Amino acid sequence: MDYDKNLHTECGVFALFSNEINENYYLNTVNGLETLQHRGQESAGIAYIENNKFVIDKKIGLVRDTFAIEKKQVKTNMTLGHVRYSTSGAKTNPLDDVQPLYGNGNKNLGEFVIAHNGNIPHIANKTDKSDSHYIVELLEKTEKTNWNDALIDIHNILKGAYCIVIITKSGMYCMRDQYGYKPLCIGQRHYRNEFVVTSETCSFRVLDKYKIRKHVLPGEILMIDSENGLREVYKKPNKLESKCLFEYIYFMDERSNFDGVMIDTKRKEFGAKLAENDFIISSYIQPDSAIYKEDIVVIGCPNTGIIGGKGYAEKMGIRYEQLIVKKRHMNRTFILPTDEERKKKCREKYEIKESIKDKIVILVDDSIVRGNTMRILIAVLFEYGCREIHVRITSPPIKYPCYYGIDIPTSMELVAFGKTIFETRDFIGATSLMYIPIDHMKEMLSPTKVCSACFTGDFNEELF
Ligand code: SF4
Repeated sequence: MDYDKNLHTECGVFALFSNEINENYYLNTVNGLETLQHRGQESAGIAYIENNKFVIDKKIGLVRDTFAIEKKQVKTNMTLGHVRYSTSGAKTNPLDDVQPLYGNGNKNLGEFVIAHNGNIPHIANKTDKSDSHYIVELLEKTEKTNWNDALIDIHNILKGAYCIVIITKSGMYCMRDQYGYKPLCIGQRHYRNEFVVTSETCSFRVLDKYKIRKHVLPGEILMIDSENGLREVYKKPNKLESKCLFEYIYFMDERSNFDGVMIDTKRKEFGAKLAENDFIISSYIQPDSAIYKEDIVVIGCPNTGIIGGKGYAEKMGIRYEQLIVKKRHMNRTFILPTDEERKKKCREKYEIKESIKDKIVILVDDSIVRGNTMRILIAVLFEYGCREIHVRITSPPIKYPCYYGIDIPTSMELVAFGKTIFETRDFIGATSLMYIPIDHMKEMLSPTKVCSACFTGDFNEELF
């Protein structure tokens, strides 16, 4: 994940349930949230139950700079954590919108704490509150006398795109919208009534005592409690599945799987697909070509194009070499007044190996957003003496914003909007430019059905 792309998911959720109290669960939640940091870097929060009371800690900043340093130990059996990048809600008091959020329902439901990942577009027309506050309000106002009925009700009101986790004094609930836009899965510790709920399966690499038990299915509401362990409360009739395509392309950690589909495998296949249809570069490596194969090198843009680049190189049968290495994290590198300053920053940010001189470079990345970062990088690479730079993108051109929880700039800011591929190529200064057509992406993910609205403009009208 490259935070500099300035594309953000709404959030990540991590929760832990056990029927025993333990002082490690809070720290496990901190560790779990760190594995989801790529899903939200603005703020984080952890709620827990201690002595039958809810406590919520909220911080602005990265988990590693806040919760991880603090190393707080509390005795609890239930936690709910959240990392956030906000796309809705007022920001006057930044902690107001930091999740989890506390609520107090009717006398039958009692107190609860909630965290959610996603965005609920039709709420924006009804309130100026964040969608999370709106969900709390719905739950506080419900007249239903048990949690199952209350949540089924809410599930029918909220159309998508979301995953919600709620903790009450007696148990934990998870639910996923019926299109399945966002990932959510559940892990269990062997032979114990101990569960984790997480936005991504990469959490299990750190919390290795837990194994994946199941992915929460689109439209499903699940409950975890001491009496019954994990059980299904409700399964809404299936809508046409619409999983976020961008999760496969960019957002999810490459070590995660989205409902069973391995992200790193898919990203490699995306790179291979580009190679399969790349007639320019395949003509360079024909026996009668005047170009030496040794002069061609595939480079994955650090760090977002590396897997795709390797998939491309393998399929094309040419060399992959990491001749561009990102030195350190620097925020929004290219928001500088002149191209000369942007190039200077680019040279500081990337270590570019001298051996790139005279090479024909196939530069692979997963997406181009505004195009400025790519434009400056290409200009700098030509200054280093590259002969040609062929940009290969393992996604279709992004042309539209997202209303379902991903913060994509407006169409006018997107480099591909209103431009042909040749015009985009000229804007970024590449020798050639190729994307994966949307039909090929969909074929590769079949039988999974994906949302591709930010590429095609085909928005799901039912959500508004
Ligand atoms: S519009 Fe794009 S980013 Fe948003 S959910 Fe659909 S595929 Fe994902």
